[in-house]
Formats: sequence, structure tokens, C-alpha cells
Amino acid sequence: MANEQPVRMCLYCRKRSSKDELFRLVRSEDGRLIWDRTGKEQKRGYYLCKQRSCVQGILQSRKSAVRLKQEVTEQLTASLEKRYDSEESAGNLDEQ
Ligand SMILES: [Zn+2]
Repeated sequence: MANEQPVRMCLYCRKRSSKDELFRLVRSEDGRLIWDRTGKEQKRGYYLCKQRSCVQGILQSRKSAVRLKQEVTEQLTASLEKRYDSEESAGNLDEQ
């Protein structure tokens, strides 16, 4: 109770989750959303569930991007998906 996690809302599905269940994104100089890997950028953060459906959804849903006036690029989703792949392969080294 005394240890409440800060809660943020996913850009895509609008679900609220604690920060460690979300990717933190920030706006780069050129107006694109980029993944703030360290979570320490001194910028306004945007959040996205650590779920493939939300990562892919935000790219496909131009509505979200328009609403936010942010540019969601394939580069962003590619870097987030790479992270999944590394997590998944770390757990399944025996698999092809
Ligand atoms: Zn989500």
C-alpha cells in the first residue's frame, strides 16, 4: 500500500499499467517517437505495453499517431520488436 507503483496509460490500448510493464517512449529532435531505453530522458514520456499487439498496433493505427501528433515509425517498432526477440531467444536457446 505504501509502495504504490506509478501508473501510466498505453498509447495504443489505453490500458493503465505500472511503469515496468510499459516501454517508455520520448519524442526525438525530429519529432519521431523513439524508445527511451534508460527511462531517464528528461522529456515527456509516452508509454506502450510490452506486448507485441500494442507495439504492432501503434504502427498500424495511424489514429493513435494523429491523436498524439507524433510520428510512429517502423524504426521504433523494429527496435522494440528486437527486444522481444532477444528476450524470447534467451529463454529458448534450444529452439531453432
Ligand atoms: Zn497497450
